[in-house]
Amino acid sequence: MFYLNTKVMFGNAALQRSVPLLAGMGQRALLVTGKRSAIASGALADLGPVLTANGIQWHTFDGVSENPDLDTIMAGKEQFLAGNCDFVIGIGGGSPLDAAKAISMAAANDLKKSQLYSTEEFRRAYPIVAIPTTAGTGSEVTQYSVLNDNKRNIKAGWGHELAFPTLAIIDPRYTFSCSYHVTLNTAVDALSHLLEGLYSQNREPIIYPLIHKGIALIVQNLKTTLQEPQNYAGREALALASMYGGMAIAQSSTSLQHSIGYPLTTTFDVPHGLANGIVMPQMMELFWDAAGDLVKDALGSFGYTRAEFLAWLESLNLQAEMTIDEQFIQDKVPEVMASRNMANNPLTVDAEDIAAIYRSLI
Ligand code: NAP
Ligand code: FE
Repeated sequence: MFYLNTKVMFGNAALQRSVPLLAGMGQRALLVTGKRSAIASGALADLGPVLTANGIQWHTFDGVSENPDLDTIMAGKEQFLAGNCDFVIGIGGGSPLDAAKAISMAAANDLKKSQLYSTEEFRRAYPIVAIPTTAGTGSEVTQYSVLNDNKRNIKAGWGHELAFPTLAIIDPRYTFSCSYHVTLNTAVDALSHLLEGLYSQNREPIIYPLIHKGIALIVQNLKTTLQEPQNYAGREALALASMYGGMAIAQSSTSLQHSIGYPLTTTFDVPHGLANGIVMPQMMELFWDAAGDLVKDALGSFGYTRAEFLAWLESLNLQAEMTIDEQFIQDKVPEVMASRNMANNPLTVDAEDIAAIYRSLI
């Protein structure tokens, strides 16, 4: 089944075009963001006057750092309730957007910290507006929120229909200020979502045309955009591909490709997209028997072979600083095996497959 419950306003001046929708969203917003992105992207400068002109009060919770944790969500919940808010606006990369979703759930259902993954307790939500300032996670069109549980030292996601943003406002200009590495890593995250839309057992053919287009847009535009960060056409292509990637995983969910990357982020601070990217060739190899024909069709749609795609990927020179050893492998393979996303793999994956992929990174 294809399901997507988000109004999407995409393109130049998307925020200005969203004013009638924003005006009906509520009276008091909690603006959930990180330390720099809302300001650096220009999104806050656009949004503030629009809220004021429409009589919407807001206050800012800028306590979301990369890979948000459960304490951050609880702090956001308190601010939401203290401010008597009635909707959330997430501005930023995937971290603030995922935090905004979780804060909406926590406030609407009065969740305790121990219940932030208890999706069976999620019965209502406050409206969520998502304004992405990176082009990667596609969180603006997914029902997922990925959080760090510091106590258990794991990064894990949850998904719930109520967490689809009510409104996504995607203006590619908000990504002009992303650094070279944020642009690169987030684009590779989007690429990972698009491929996982083909790998997953729950793959949804309705979205294949958008998956094909998304992969093509990234392969054909990423390098130019890295060289020319202010290139609107390039930024638009990456923002569109990221949204298609989000639409893909909203149907299919992610798989081992994401599960295997999470411990690299929690242990070595490898940025999320990069963690997916450095295992992408190994994942393609592992899943080839089950999904190779679908990947071939996708790459063939813009005239690429698997070998040409892998050469392009290698030319991105993705590198992460990690010190993987046998202890790490022993500790983390069971964690990966236990992760929710493993159920979506297109074939049976055993502990040795995962260990072999980690060993290939040593
Ligand atoms: P991020 O963690 O949100 O942000 C990375 C860095 O980029 C931060 O330092 C951020 O600054 C900065 N930044 C963001 N936009 C900027 C801009 N326009 N100009 C300058 N700096 C900017 O990165 P992300 O890759 O977008 O999100 C990763 C998170 O999303 C991970 O936790 C991942 O697990 C999750 N994720 C979620 C989904 C989903 O479906 N929900 C899918 C994939 C991944 P600030 O300090 O201001 O934030
Ligand atoms: Fe991702």
